[in-house]
Amino acid sequence: MDSYSLPNDPEQVIEADRAHVWHHLVQHKPFETIDPRIIVEGKGLRLWDIKGKEHIDAVAGGVWTVNVGYGRERIGKAIADQVTKMCFFGGTMGTIPAATFAEMLTAKMPGLDRVYYANSGSEANEKAFKMVRQISQKHYGGKKHKILYRDRDYHGTTIAALSAGGQDDRNAHYGPFAPGFVRVPHCLEYRSQDGSTGEAYGEKSAQMIEDVILAEGPDTIGALCLEPITAGGGIIVPPEGYWPRVQEICRKYDILLHIDEVVCGFGRTGTWFGYQHFGIEPDFVTMAKGVASGYAAISCCVTSNRVFEMFKDDTDKMSYFRDISTFGGCTGGPAAAIENMKIIEEEDLVANSAAMGDHLMGRLSELMDKHAWIGDIRGKGLFAGAELVRDRDTKEPIDEKYTAAIVADCMAQGVIIGGTNRSVPGFNNTLLFAPALIATKDDLDQVVAAVDKAIGRVLG
Ligand code: PMP
Repeated sequence: MDSYSLPNDPEQVIEADRAHVWHHLVQHKPFETIDPRIIVEGKGLRLWDIKGKEHIDAVAGGVWTVNVGYGRERIGKAIADQVTKMCFFGGTMGTIPAATFAEMLTAKMPGLDRVYYANSGSEANEKAFKMVRQISQKHYGGKKHKILYRDRDYHGTTIAALSAGGQDDRNAHYGPFAPGFVRVPHCLEYRSQDGSTGEAYGEKSAQMIEDVILAEGPDTIGALCLEPITAGGGIIVPPEGYWPRVQEICRKYDILLHIDEVVCGFGRTGTWFGYQHFGIEPDFVTMAKGVASGYAAISCCVTSNRVFEMFKDDTDKMSYFRDISTFGGCTGGPAAAIENMKIIEEEDLVANSAAMGDHLMGRLSELMDKHAWIGDIRGKGLFAGAELVRDRDTKEPIDEKYTAAIVADCMAQGVIIGGTNRSVPGFNNTLLFAPALIATKDDLDQVVAAVDKAIGRVLG
């Protein structure tokens, strides 16, 4: 990009931010002496902050969201045109962009037919939880109400979503939680609980889910909610053998399968949706970040017709889904999502994510050869993690302060990467990479070069 435009008075903006903005997920004490960082402009993978510093963003807006990259004028124009013509009507009536996008989206998801619109990932997950509870009440006398979730997975920030949250450091301070959520073990092969590996570990991890189901009573379990590839919990790609067994278990006990694609959707992992790597057939798929790449706040809870039909009994006045989300009726969201999807298709970004993901993993594996601190690298598509350990034999995690120092060193070099941060107790030791799906080899090489330097400086 040739130029970027700073505001006339950057100091005034910084002071307004310092005085009045409560940032997400950060301790504010340091802002008494250092300036909050304020982003002004973006183009492609590049960002400029208010002090004129250029950054390469390897985490797509910090939280793996801006899949098509910054500065897409056609998305901005599509939103402006739509909201000028018709901005909003509560979801009891349809709108042209909502219908159009629902048709485009379900065409990418064989077996899934219905789109329920909301605004955030947490909210989309809450919709699925509420559907499960209502199905339980209507069809199972309220008994089949429990929702299983996995250790290390995350499904959102609201109290019910946190109740389904397997990252205890994130949950700390916010209990008591909602009843009826039951935890099952994770499937991180690198930290295999019994030393088994590969397909055997995959099958055993799934078996551990069945063990919980049997202990709780299968007739009490309504749904199993999982991330296809665990994101903030440390980029966990389930091993071979895991998903077929999970699917089999759900079918055996009539448990609805809810896949949380809030992060993995829209090409992030090199397929349209993460679950499509594994040949599974979910009943619910929730999605948010990549739906409109952050150009608008939109999320979706997509369901099969089997689920939808359970709410269509007109002999029972209360049987429809009695839920509303005011801003699920915004038209700017689906207008942006339509354009976002067209860009992903026209520029073949799903294939680019797969190809560039291979390149990134190749570069990370070179880094692993160089730094014994890297114990494991994992990922799919443009979604990768490098787990840092003090010792490769014991796999003892490095202290989170080093993870934070490496992220900060990269930031000082103008490269924004992520790190598991205060999520899984004792395991805040994984560096995260999830750039926009337009990333090139050259971009990724620059990112990895910065990480190489940072690891050398912080850990030696
Ligand atoms: N599910 C997953 C897998 C997520 O990573 C997140 C957010 N990082 C959420 C749900 C919640 O999304 P939101 O912050 O939009 O509510």
